[in-house]
Amino acid sequence: MQPVIGITCNYKQTENLFCLRDYYTDSICAAGGLPLILPVTRAVDLCAEYFTLCDGILFSGGGDIDPYLFGKAADKELGEVSPLRDAFELQLARMALASGKPALGICRGCQVLNIAAGGTLVQDIKGERLHDQKAPRDYPIHDILIKSDSLLSSIVQTDRIRVNSFHHQAIDREGESLAICALAGDGIAEAVESRTGSFYLGVQWHPECMKDDYSRSLFAALVEKSKHF
Ligand code: MN
Repeated sequence: MQPVIGITCNYKQTENLFCLRDYYTDSICAAGGLPLILPVTRAVDLCAEYFTLCDGILFSGGGDIDPYLFGKAADKELGEVSPLRDAFELQLARMALASGKPALGICRGCQVLNIAAGGTLVQDIKGERLHDQKAPRDYPIHDILIKSDSLLSSIVQTDRIRVNSFHHQAIDREGESLAICALAGDGIAEAVESRTGSFYLGVQWHPECMKDDYSRSLFAALVEKSKHF
């Protein structure tokens, strides 16, 4: 049986539109999972039903999260916010955190996983290094250093990789029970993971767009863990 990997999607409420780049579903298919796009719902009980249906969850990229959800007032650099998507994903992430069901977060998804665990974000990166590239989506623009003995290093089997970068926010303080496990050269957090041994991993870059083995190994690990949870 292929494990069912639920994938969260964008919700443009003013256009009555759900959307998701096909990179995510393609990456799950290539790793041997069955992708299932999860529509944002207001209903708390439906969210729980979706969670039960899935063997693992992939939190996709997207817009900014309302800083109110991590106890901060909105900076003027805050981008587009989707309150219903925020609520839906945070509920899913808290269920993953509580149950240990495998969860992989990408970009915004990485930030969702951190906030669900009580962490905070930098609302707008002010440094001099580029984190919002104009290069093609599969082009790696900066290095990251990965902590040894982390879940991430056990997956990619190295301590330094080059990644793409499409974010203006980043993890500030990690959530309880989480640890930042990769940093860019300027000290920006590029990945966060559970310290309790469960597969709860967020990466700030976009591996679904990359063509290297490191990126593929992330989806393979999610699917493999989801088979056996
Ligand atoms: Mn970056």
